[in-house]
Amino acid sequence: MIAVFGHLNPDTDAISAAMVYARFLSRQGHEAQAYRLGELNFETAFVLRELGLEAPPLLGELPAGSQVALVDHNESAQSVSNLSELNVTHVVDHHKLGDLTTVSPAYLRFEPVGCTGTILLALHREAGLSVELQDATLMLSAILSDTLHFRSPTTTGRDREAVEFLAPIAGIEDVEAYALAMFAAKSDLGDTPAETLLRMDFKVFPFGDPTQPQNWGIGVIETTNPGYVFGRQDELLAAMDQVKADDGLTGVLLSVVDILNETNRALVLGATEAKLLREAFGVEAEGQVADLGNRISRKKQIVPTIEKHFAPEN
Ligand code: MN
Ligand code: MN
Repeated sequence: MIAVFGHLNPDTDAISAAMVYARFLSRQGHEAQAYRLGELNFETAFVLRELGLEAPPLLGELPAGSQVALVDHNESAQSVSNLSELNVTHVVDHHKLGDLTTVSPAYLRFEPVGCTGTILLALHREAGLSVELQDATLMLSAILSDTLHFRSPTTTGRDREAVEFLAPIAGIEDVEAYALAMFAAKSDLGDTPAETLLRMDFKVFPFGDPTQPQNWGIGVIETTNPGYVFGRQDELLAAMDQVKADDGLTGVLLSVVDILNETNRALVLGATEAKLLREAFGVEAEGQVADLGNRISRKKQIVPTIEKHFAPEN
């Protein structure tokens, strides 16, 4: 049995890729089951509700040696805690390669595209497998989510083609309207506790000397309603302080990405974070907010710059 799962604090790609790839592996003769490593965000809940699908079960502790397939991530800091004891048999991902090691030869498929969904569609086409409505909707939703409907600089021609191919199968005539409905669902945060908001799309990255890395937590809230998020600024800063202490992090940043205007304004916890933004990005925080301009992609515009800043040769 291969357990298939995406990263901690799952987003729509992490969930839909696990579901689609588990089915793909099953159709290829493997025994595979999709799991999730955390609660669904509001956007993913919307997508599954539209399809009348249940979320995959939460993954419990896996015994050492268990077979796992990773989708939408490969770094141990974003995965199950005992990843190093598990037998990684497959990885399908569109992130930079991290600290992944395997105990036996694994199937690895990495492509620099905007979404795991785009790679999964390619796998179906290469294998000559048909794509059903549910899988089409899951992949299409993930691509719209990861690329912010092609606004993100991570978007490639392949992502656009994939959506064009999938939309008729998914029965989605107006892709723009569907994307806006997804983003509206994602932005409808209600009275969600501040720490939950912070952790919803929160990733930990080790920077600097790999033998003694400093771990930074970088959260993102993608929203069509940034005013709501900044209205809760004090609560969010308190949650960042708490998470920094609880998780033993060197620094914590929270980007508030305005999806429709394509801007990123980050909450800056303190002097450590302000120093990093000044030195790595040349951006000065005002109060506890730093204007990161159009750097809306953590993967392509935030993390690589920080990585370079902390690189050992610097
Ligand atoms: Mn993801
Ligand atoms: Mn992704």
